[in-house]
Amino acid sequence: MKFAVSVFLMLFIWCHAPLSVTATVAVDTPSSPDAQNLQQWHPGKDGIVALSGPWEFYWNRLLEPGDFAGGMPDQPLTVSVPAEWKSYTIDGQALSNEGYATYRMKFVISGETGGRPLGLYVPNVASAYRLWINGEHLGGNGTVGTDSASMIPRSHPKVYSFVPRPGDNELIIQVSNFAQRTGGIWETVELGDADKIASLHRNRVLVWAFLTGCLLVMAVFSVFLYLFRKQDRSALWFGVICLAICTRSSLLGESFVYVLFPGLSWEWGVKLEYFSEIATILSLAAFVNKQYPQEATVRLFRFFAAALAGFGLFVLVAPARVYTHFMLPYVIVLLLPVFLYVMYVYIRAALRHRTGSRTNVIGFLGFFATVIHEMMYYTGLVPFGGLVSFGLLFFLLTQLLNLSLLFTRAIARSELLSVELSKVIESQEETIRQRTSDLQSLNVQLEQGNRELSRIENVRSALLAEVYHDLSTPITAMKGFSKAIHTAVIPQEEAPAYAGRIYERSLMLEKLIDNVLELSQLNTGEIQFQFVEVPLLPLLRQWSDGYAAEASAQGVGLIWEEPDLPLPPGQELLAVLDPFRFERVFANLISNAVKYTPGDGRIRVWTEFAPAADPDHGPVVVIHVADSGIGIPEEALPHIFKRRYRVPGIHQTKAGSGLGLAICKEIVARHQGEIGVKSIIGEGSDFYITLPVIVCASKAGAEAYAEGGYDGNDDSAD
Ligand code: ADP
Repeated sequence: MKFAVSVFLMLFIWCHAPLSVTATVAVDTPSSPDAQNLQQWHPGKDGIVALSGPWEFYWNRLLEPGDFAGGMPDQPLTVSVPAEWKSYTIDGQALSNEGYATYRMKFVISGETGGRPLGLYVPNVASAYRLWINGEHLGGNGTVGTDSASMIPRSHPKVYSFVPRPGDNELIIQVSNFAQRTGGIWETVELGDADKIASLHRNRVLVWAFLTGCLLVMAVFSVFLYLFRKQDRSALWFGVICLAICTRSSLLGESFVYVLFPGLSWEWGVKLEYFSEIATILSLAAFVNKQYPQEATVRLFRFFAAALAGFGLFVLVAPARVYTHFMLPYVIVLLLPVFLYVMYVYIRAALRHRTGSRTNVIGFLGFFATVIHEMMYYTGLVPFGGLVSFGLLFFLLTQLLNLSLLFTRAIARSELLSVELSKVIESQEETIRQRTSDLQSLNVQLEQGNRELSRIENVRSALLAEVYHDLSTPITAMKGFSKAIHTAVIPQEEAPAYAGRIYERSLMLEKLIDNVLELSQLNTGEIQFQFVEVPLLPLLRQWSDGYAAEASAQGVGLIWEEPDLPLPPGQELLAVLDPFRFERVFANLISNAVKYTPGDGRIRVWTEFAPAADPDHGPVVVIHVADSGIGIPEEALPHIFKRRYRVPGIHQTKAGSGLGLAICKEIVARHQGEIGVKSIIGEGSDFYITLPVIVCASKAGAEAYAEGGYDGNDDSAD
C-alpha cells in the first residue's frame, strides 16, 4: 500500500511541478488596460507565466494581424482565458460553444527579456486554431473555418518558440469550433523561457508516456496471467481495465498518440477516448464481480453493461458534435452509479473481511476522489484537472498489490501443502511398509499353518495306514468268530469260548483305537495340557503305591525306592506337569515292565537328582522304572520309541499295539523332558525320564500328597 501511494505521489508531483511554478508567479497589473504587463518578469528566474489576459475577443470574426494595422477593427469583448465561450456574454446573452472567434492580446516585456527566445505552450484548444505573434504566423492545429464543413478539428497541446520584441508584443489566435461540446481556449496558455517551455512539454509527455507504458505492461501481465490460469477471469478484466486506461492516457494530457499516429483523425481520437472510458467502467464492474462474486449483484451489472454498450454504440455512430453533449447525463446516469456499485461491493467485502478488501476500498476511494476532482475541474471549481488517470493508476497499483499478495500467499500455501503432502506420503509409505511387513509375517504364519496342517494330515494318514492292519486283523477275527457262532459251524458248547475271544479282540481294538487317537492328537497338537506345579516325589510315591497291587497280581513286585536327595532340609522338588497325562506315561512304563517281566520278577521305581549344571540348564530329576524282565536286544533300542515298533519275536506272545512308548515320548517331550532306555537282554530294562524341576521351600502341598494324594485342583496352572 505504501508503495502504491509513493508511486502515485511521485508521478503526480513530477507531472504538475511546472504548474505549481505558474501558480506562484505574480502577474503584474497591466500598465495599460489592454495589455498584460510582464516588464518585471524575468523568464530565467521567475519561471513560466500564464497568459490569462486581458484578451480582446472578437466573436464570429476571423481576424489576422493585418486587420489590426489601423487599430481595432471592431469593439471587442475583454475576456480572460482559460474559459469556454459559453461563459462569455454579449448584450447579456451567453455565447454558444459553437462558432468562431479571434483572440488578441498584448503583453509588455522588459528590454532585458526582449530579444531572447521565449516559448509558448498552447494547450488543448477546442477545436482548431491559428496563431500569430507580432504579425508572424507561427502555426496552429487543425483547420479553422466558419462552419463545420470548412473546419477540421484537431486538439492537442503544442509548443512554439519565438523571439519577442522589447516592450509591446501582440498575440493573435483564431479559434473555431463546430465539432464538440466545448469551444474556445479552455485551458491555460503559458509563456516562458523557450527551453523551460520545451522541457515542460517534454516532461508532461514523458509522464503520460510513462503512465501509458506502465498500464500497458500491467495489461500484458494480466492477460498472460489469465491465459495461464483461465479459471480466474478477474485477471482478464484487470487486463482490460489497464488496456483501456492505457489507451485513454495516450489520448489525454499531452495526447502524444497524435504524434505517434499522425493519421489518427480528431473525430476517431475522441471516439477512442469515450470507448476507452466505457470499457474501463464496464471492465471495472466485471472485475469487481469476479473479485467478490458473493458480494456482487449480477442483475445490476447486466443493466449497467447493457446501458454502457448502448452509449458506446451511440458514440460509434454519432459525430463528436452530438455525443459530447451527452457527457453530463452519461456521467450522472452511468459513470457515477457504476462507481457507487463498485464501492458498494468493496464495502460489503470489507465488512465481511474478505481478502484484500480494505486495500481495495482505500484504492478505490483514492480513484473516486480524483473523479470528483475532475468533475469539479470541469465545472470550474478547481483550477486544474487531469488527475483521473493518476487516480486510476493508484487504484490499479493497489490491485496489483492485492494480486501480488494473493500470488505470494498462494505460493506460500502451495509450498506448505507440498511439504504437508510429502509428509503424508512419507507417513503413508511408512504405513504401507508396516502393512506390507504385517502381510508378509501373516503370509509366513499362513505358510507355517499350511505346512502344519499338511504335516498333521500326513501324520494322520500315515498313522491310519500303519494301524490299518492291526485294526483289520481283530475285526476279521471277530467277523469270523461271530459268523461261526451265527451259522452254528462250531459246536454249541464252544460258543461261549468264541464269544470270550470276540470280547478280548474288541477290548484290544478299543485300546488300539484309543491309542491311535491319542497319538494322533498328540502329534497334531490337539491335546491341551493342563500344566501345574506339583511336588514330584510325593506324586511318584503315590502312583507307585497305586500300581504295586496291579503288578503283584501278575506276580511281579513293584518297589518305590525313597531317594536320598542332596537337598537342604525344608526344600522340595516341584515339577511343572500335567498330572493326568504324565500318569499315562508312568502307567505305560509300569504296564510294559509287568508285561515283559516273568513272574517273581521285580520292578524298581527310583529317582536321581541332578542340580543345575549352569545358568542355562536348571536342575533335573531322572525317574527310573527298571525291571528285571526279558530285556531288549541292543539292535532294537534305537527303534523302541518309534510308532508301531515292536521287538521282533516278542509281539507274537504279548499283546500290544507298539504305540505305547511313542505316546510316552510325545508326552515327555511336551514336558520339556526326555525319555530313554538301557537294557540288557535277559537281565531287564531300565526306562528313565529326565524332567526339569524347581527346588523350593516345601509347602503344605507336600504333606497333602504324602497323606491323601493329589486332587488335581492346583491353582498354579501354567
Ligand atoms: P506294546 O504295546 O507292544 O508294548 P510299546 O510301545 O509299549 O508297545 O512297546 C514297544 C515294544 O518295546 C514292545 O513291543 C516290546 O517289545 C518292547 N518293550 C517295551 N517295554 C519293554 C520292557 N520293559 N521289557 C522288554 N521289552 C519292552
